[in-house]
Amino acid sequence: MAGECLFCKIIKGEIPAKKLYEDDELVAFWDIAPQAPTHFLVIPRKHLSGPAGATPADDALVGKLLRKGAELAAANGAPAFRLVLNNGPEAGQTVFHLHLHVLGGRPLTWPPG
Ligand code: 5GP
Ligand code: ZN
Repeated sequence: MAGECLFCKIIKGEIPAKKLYEDDELVAFWDIAPQAPTHFLVIPRKHLSGPAGATPADDALVGKLLRKGAELAAANGAPAFRLVLNNGPEAGQTVFHLHLHVLGGRPLTWPPG
């Protein structure tokens, strides 16, 4: 349910988060359990359950999410960075509101675990 969603509550200000960017469509905030020196999340204000929850009507929004993540990475200590979208519990998704992980500030290995 969108109304009970953790990230919807962050958007509404009902749960505090350390924001680094926001506009009329997106909010970016630092991850509470960072996995790298730079680790923040970029989310749409619109509740989408995850990457697979987006429809063609969301194409521009999802494109902006990626572009903004890249732009903010360079401006926040990560000229080299990784953008991650987890979809489904087996892929590591724990919050079911679409969010782009932006990770950097240390060497990142491949493949991910
Ligand atoms: P997922 O595992 O779903 O891809 O990513 C969810 C991310 O949200 C995790 O990296 C987790 O640390 C982060 N997270 C979970 N709860 C909170 C919270 O209340 N505040 C912030 N800032 N990050 C959170
Ligand atoms: Zn939500």
